[in-house]
Amino acid sequence: MFTYIDPTVRERLLAQGKLVRIDASGRVIGPDEELVAGEKAISVLGPIPLPIARSGRQFEVDWYASVRHTELSKVEELADELRQRDGQQSFAILASSMAVNSVLVVGDPAKWSNPLVRVHSSCLTGDVFGSARCECGPQFITALERIADDPEGGLLVYMSGHEGRGIGLWAKAATYVLQDAGEDTYQANRSLGLPDDSRDFSDAAALLRYFLNDRPFRLLTNNPKKITDLNNYGVRNITPVKHVIGVSAANRRYLTAKRDWGHQLDSDDLIIK
Ligand SMILES: [Zn+2]
Repeated sequence: MFTYIDPTVRERLLAQGKLVRIDASGRVIGPDEELVAGEKAISVLGPIPLPIARSGRQFEVDWYASVRHTELSKVEELADELRQRDGQQSFAILASSMAVNSVLVVGDPAKWSNPLVRVHSSCLTGDVFGSARCECGPQFITALERIADDPEGGLLVYMSGHEGRGIGLWAKAATYVLQDAGEDTYQANRSLGLPDDSRDFSDAAALLRYFLNDRPFRLLTNNPKKITDLNNYGVRNITPVKHVIGVSAANRRYLTAKRDWGHQLDSDDLIIK
């Protein structure tokens, strides 16, 4: 594990309890425990204090990075090979292709009884560029604000492999072209022969079970399918909390398509404020 960083660093992190492996149910897999072939194992690295400055506010969060053990093993094999050949450039490619998810923790998990949670799907155009074609950017920052302002605090799970509801950034770019030719966000996926929503929430479920220890929580979402998916991976006691923000002329049609698809949005929610 993490041999592509440095084995001595890995040992130090393990000794400090800053690197753990968990299974699909969020249980910690002991350092000497053999991994069962085919069973999910996720490595979690943290806490890493992360001061965040966004929208004129400061947030003090603890960041945890997480990656599937199987993917990490593949990366390690590749890393060993690359180490013997050229260096920097290949490692840059390797590192960027890893599906590393993040957990941002606000407050003290030991004190939580019903924290506020957001499971956010990565969206480069919305979260980073501030594109108004979707409402991901405002949803991300408002989720962080709501969690930080909540008496209990909570956490945000940032799913890195969820770009374009799981079809990836390249295909998402293609769906934007199709949407501009008149298709809605779901039709465009189908035109490309791709599912409406192929996001995998199993890692999010394992992380929620690890961090929440099966305590009830409130989930910022308008999407009932997200709750069903998490339920299917053993996450229980979810109270949905509506999370509508960032409605604009540029994304009203997109949000209407989401409502028609099953998102819990009322006509009032789609008024541009
Ligand atoms: Zn988006």
